[in-house]
Amino acid sequence: MSAIIDDLRKERERFVAFAFAAAEIFFEIDTTGIILFEGGAVEKVGPERGGSSLVGTSIVDVIDNDDRDVFIALKMHLEYKGRLGPIPIRFTSSVGHNLALRLFALHMPGANSRTFLSLRSAPLGGGAGEQSTDKETGLLTRDSFLNLAATTMAENTTHNSLYVTAVEIDGLDEAQKKFGPKFTHNLLGRMAAQLKTLSVDGEMAGQIGDKHFAFLHRTQGDGDYIGESLKKVDDKVQLKTSVSTIAADNENISEGQILRTLSYVLSKFCEDSSSVDFDQLTAAYETMAGEAQARVTSMRSMIESGSFKMAFQPVVSLVSSDIHHNEVLSRFEGSVDGDSPKDIIEFAENVGMIEEFDIALCKKAIDYIRKMKRLGEPLNLAVNLSGRTLESSRFVDQFVSLLKDAKDVARYIVLELTETKAIKNIEKAEALLNDLKATGYRVCLDDFGVGASGYQYLRSFNVDYVKINGSYMHDMDKPDYKPTFLLSIVRLCADLNIKTIGQHVETQFQADFLKSLGVDFGQGYHYGRPDFSPKTNR
Ligand code: C2E
Ligand code: CA
Repeated sequence: MSAIIDDLRKERERFVAFAFAAAEIFFEIDTTGIILFEGGAVEKVGPERGGSSLVGTSIVDVIDNDDRDVFIALKMHLEYKGRLGPIPIRFTSSVGHNLALRLFALHMPGANSRTFLSLRSAPLGGGAGEQSTDKETGLLTRDSFLNLAATTMAENTTHNSLYVTAVEIDGLDEAQKKFGPKFTHNLLGRMAAQLKTLSVDGEMAGQIGDKHFAFLHRTQGDGDYIGESLKKVDDKVQLKTSVSTIAADNENISEGQILRTLSYVLSKFCEDSSSVDFDQLTAAYETMAGEAQARVTSMRSMIESGSFKMAFQPVVSLVSSDIHHNEVLSRFEGSVDGDSPKDIIEFAENVGMIEEFDIALCKKAIDYIRKMKRLGEPLNLAVNLSGRTLESSRFVDQFVSLLKDAKDVARYIVLELTETKAIKNIEKAEALLNDLKATGYRVCLDDFGVGASGYQYLRSFNVDYVKINGSYMHDMDKPDYKPTFLLSIVRLCADLNIKTIGQHVETQFQADFLKSLGVDFGQGYHYGRPDFSPKTNR
């Protein structure tokens, strides 16, 4: 212990010298927070006081109310860490707005315990300043945390150690039940302050799930320490914590790979905190890559053998109630209303296999229509087609020739264009779609209304149908709902001679509403859930 104190003592000399050189403001405080010494531009903080000193008053009085939790956490961690910083913190000031400063702190333990605070102006260059944070806790959102952590890890060329720790906190629900939301809000604030204070630059802590948090830090033991420390954040509540720390040994992997690995590890942790036992990022990366490889292999064999199924959901005319066509929705599990295929489709998109899948699905749909035609019961199907397939130099020819060879069923098929944001070369996609339309296929723009780009595709692509994003259906149920946006879609489409389809229609009320606005077709549970056999008018 005395060696540590010796070291700290030496460091104290350096720190004080350094602080005076680099700090704009400098304070020395005792264990209760009373200012013992002040230096630099101290008149910038606190109320207007005509040159009189802050010595003898409490530092807490000049810290912004919202950041008092940060200061309390800082004092607590200092006893264990010795030194901390930089940490963003706001002070009150006489100029009307608060003063954002970066704080470095050094703690001298012992009988005559002292803490030195060095403060500088805080241009938050490149840090959490541009990221999205939760307004209540100031913690980064999951995505912002992942991005910031991955960038910091990738840019860590100084070879200083970096660690990511994920924390699960159990007992917050009970605390809320017992003491109410105000109490938990305050509790979360104090926890967030603790996480932030120990994190790199005092701002690399995020909330990654309902009861899951993560922070990036420089000392390995901080992970276990914070687990213990958060448990005791308030005597009134019983909390349980579970932590997992992973070291950033990421020299041979790219920033994108770091990002995906972190996302993978943190998702696993949120699902089951005891399932994550990676010590190092590269080990997690290899496991993730292995799992992805196995998924790719099974996806490929599924595509090759065609061992996925088509479910059908009717699209109904709002005027005549006739079934106009069925949308094909893929099913990879046995049951029709089991897991949504969304994850598998997204995975296929991410690993560059959606093109082969689209081709396999179109083959299946073409075969099915031919079979039904032979039986004298031809039917119209809409198949989802990823924008990526139209972009792909490897697969687009194969896709187009498959469709051109199926001219006999072209008039029964609607190509429902999804993932349009993947389309970079609009002119090329436009030419391809026009070519397919000339062969007899119809084209539908899926999920219109989310993102601004929809209008651009609507202008460029000569489509027959526009499918309105399902989120608008739920809005209709609100009492003060005004259908401004829906009406503008309907009018625009009518001018362009495009038919509209409302999806996720779940109630008669929604169906009537859509009809009154002039929407042409409806699709949703109200008319029928996806089913392995298509609904027809017969
Ligand atoms: P999507 O193209 O927007 O398909 C509509 C989704 O909404 C389907 O989910 C459908 O089951 C669901 N749905 C239908 N009616 C209602 C309703 O009334 N209320 C609500 N809340 N949902 C309703 P599903 O089958 O889970 O498919 C999810 C997504 O997966 C699809 O969204 C589509 O993007 C993708 N997908 C499915 N099959 C294929 C495929 O064969 N190829 C491609 N590229 N994507 C597919
Ligand atoms: Ca669709």
